[in-house]
Amino acid sequence: MKKGKLIILVAPSGAGKSTIAHKLFKDFEQLKFSVSATTRKPRTGEVNGTHYHFLTPAEFEERIAEKDFLEWEEFYGGTRYGTLRSEVDKNLKSGYFVLLDVEVKGAVNIKELYGNECLGIFIKPPSMEVLKQRLIARGTENNESLALRLERAKEELTYSDRFDRVIINDDLEAAYAQVKRAVEEFMNSN
Ligand code: ADP
Ligand code: 5GP
Repeated sequence: MKKGKLIILVAPSGAGKSTIAHKLFKDFEQLKFSVSATTRKPRTGEVNGTHYHFLTPAEFEERIAEKDFLEWEEFYGGTRYGTLRSEVDKNLKSGYFVLLDVEVKGAVNIKELYGNECLGIFIKPPSMEVLKQRLIARGTENNESLALRLERAKEELTYSDRFDRVIINDDLEAAYAQVKRAVEEFMNSN
């Protein structure tokens, strides 16, 4: 497998990964997003091929059989998410840094595969209550999916020490300044 320069933002759903990733793409033009595959339905505004490759369960199964995934996980009542090798490799080959937005177990697996070629940043919410409020305010969850995400978040938070940096997303600008500095240091050290 081709080694490369990966950056993983990892956090419980709702902790602010997407918000922070968005800011990174504005600041670092040498950064490309690895578009994951998923079997979940698109949210309003999400574009196939940009936010995710939205696959049917059968299509996802086929891609597993073809060994197209670097890693994949199943959660939230059977929904699958996976990192496509082709997404990572095409960007590394073109000399880009690749940003991955994956959940905790996938991130642990990728960190194991890539070691020091991968910067793992764990984004922590200030508290479970704040996480819940942010998920509610985002307006994307029903009662069931909210409860599932919060339950999962408790477990995910126990993995934070597996990553290179842990940054608490309380004040967004302060958290982002720390993320930006860590990314700059990593890019300059490669
Ligand atoms: P994730 O990608 O980790 O699931 P999002 O980036 O979608 O999380 O953030 C969840 C919600 O919280 C969004 O509505 C976002 O605007 C909001 N949010 C993110 N960071 C902060 C912050 N520091 N303070 C307040 N709200 C935030
Ligand atoms: P969402 O449904 O909110 O877009 O994402 C739910 C969770 O799936 C997030 O924690 C996100 O990081 C994770 N996720 C997205 N893509 C992948 C992937 O390719 N692999 C893994 N393991 N998790 C992913």
